[in-house]
Amino acid sequence: MTDVPAASRALQELLPPFGPHEASAEAHRCLYCYDAPCVQACPTHIDIPTFIRKIATGNLRGSARTILEANFLGGTCARVCPVEELCEGACVLNSEEKPIAIGRLQRHAVDHVQERGVQLFRPGPPSGRRVAVVGSGPAGLSVSAELAQLGHTVTLLEKRELGGGLSTYGIIVLREPVEVALREVDAVRELGVDVQTGHELTDRAGLDVLLSEYDAVFLGLGLGAVPAMGIPGEEHLLDGLRYIEDSKIRPEVLPDAQNVVVIGAGNTAVDAATVARRRGASVTMLYRRTEAEMTAYRHEYEFALSEGIGYRFLTQPVRVLSGGGRVTGVECVRMVLGPPDAGGRPGPRPLPGSEFVVPCDAVISAIGQEKPALAVELGLEVTGGYIAVDGAMQTSMPRVYAGGDCVRARGTASTVMAVQDGKYAAAAIHRLLSSTLEAAHG
Ligand SMILES: Cc1cc2nc3c(=O)[nH]c(=O)nc-3n(C[C@H](O)[C@H](O)[C@H](O)COP(=O)(O)OP(=O)(O)OC[C@H]3O[C@@H](n4cnc5c(N)ncnc54)[C@H](O)[C@@H]3O)c2cc1C
Ligand code: SF4
Repeated sequence: MTDVPAASRALQELLPPFGPHEASAEAHRCLYCYDAPCVQACPTHIDIPTFIRKIATGNLRGSARTILEANFLGGTCARVCPVEELCEGACVLNSEEKPIAIGRLQRHAVDHVQERGVQLFRPGPPSGRRVAVVGSGPAGLSVSAELAQLGHTVTLLEKRELGGGLSTYGIIVLREPVEVALREVDAVRELGVDVQTGHELTDRAGLDVLLSEYDAVFLGLGLGAVPAMGIPGEEHLLDGLRYIEDSKIRPEVLPDAQNVVVIGAGNTAVDAATVARRRGASVTMLYRRTEAEMTAYRHEYEFALSEGIGYRFLTQPVRVLSGGGRVTGVECVRMVLGPPDAGGRPGPRPLPGSEFVVPCDAVISAIGQEKPALAVELGLEVTGGYIAVDGAMQTSMPRVYAGGDCVRARGTASTVMAVQDGKYAAAAIHRLLSSTLEAAHG
């Protein structure tokens, strides 16, 4: 394994920002394609050639406006979007040389205005209609920004102390510093949205109160904690999401482990492993299937390998071993793949008698997130544990809409999809509120 020198490397953004000359040179490489494939590949359909041209002509403010009009969370998306799979993956320059660094150019333009506190958008003329948004992650912020610009009065309720959802608490600093996410919460506040943190929707009675006080409600609840594994020694497992959150908000509480095992092979697992590695530990990821079935993107997998993170595939932890209150290892069993399971992937099963121990002094569990438990309590229809919505993001309950991770029944949950859900929901809520206004005024 390669050496990782300073633990503090874990806490800095990985890619440096473009300087003005670099940004301009990169922007001039763009062919400004007619019918640009990069735009089609962006789930929020940002007009990429236009924002790039504005950078090339030195109009950074105009460039940021083009981005943020289509995607109010352009600063976060510039950092966290899997651009290799989306816009940059579709760039026509892929076949000849390097694709345009669309993500880094987007970050250059958006940071320019957000670091200076420039407000490019205003609330729309008051409609007299009120909407409550629950959850201040990318879905909640996106729907709030859209509705405020349409003139509706928006109250955004967030149970945690800080707004921003996983952009604030879940995306490692290597990709997105906390300040970037908080700037986006502030930008929504600047549109007149009343952001109330420390305010949790807990039950059906609470939803009924919201429905009596507001014309519509949007739920952007996200998902829950890392599920329990149900293995002996579970109490010694570190929660992967909590581990990442601590690395962002209170890094001083992270354990100083030398040999870390991470269970899982998705986003959270790769991110937790990266943080541990950057803090100087030897890190091994355990996954019960093979490389081919990992849910992390290929580029994430390769990034983890380049960081010196080791993988053990076809390996299932069955017990956390400890002595004197300290973790000493994980007992595992070898797995073999069988016929496809309900999810369509080859089903892993244990190979009897193949138990072995991976020595370590910390074990992080990062095997996904629990489905939104509150949905059932609220009396909403669910599909596969996610909130069921129609094409306009409306739930089974009139005037209640939902979007983001809590409705995502298939595909990979991502920030940009949550932002787009927020836009769809805002359009539907606006249609609802406009039609009820028309009915009221004849
Ligand atoms: C470790 C990790 C790394 C990731 N990395 C990437 C990445 O690199 N790129 C990418 O595109 N996506 C990534 N994702 C996914 C991305 O973060 C999510 O898809 C996105 O944040 C979803 O937005 P959301 O608004 O639906 O939910 P969230 O961001 O989860 O926000 C939900 C918000 O609702 C609040 N809330 C929940 N219940 C209540 C309630 N009852 N009352 C009040 N408030 C409530 C929560 O506190 C939270 O703030 C990652 C996810 C994780 C876990
Ligand atoms: S596909 Fe590539 S070259 Fe064409 S407009 Fe998009 S970024 Fe520019």
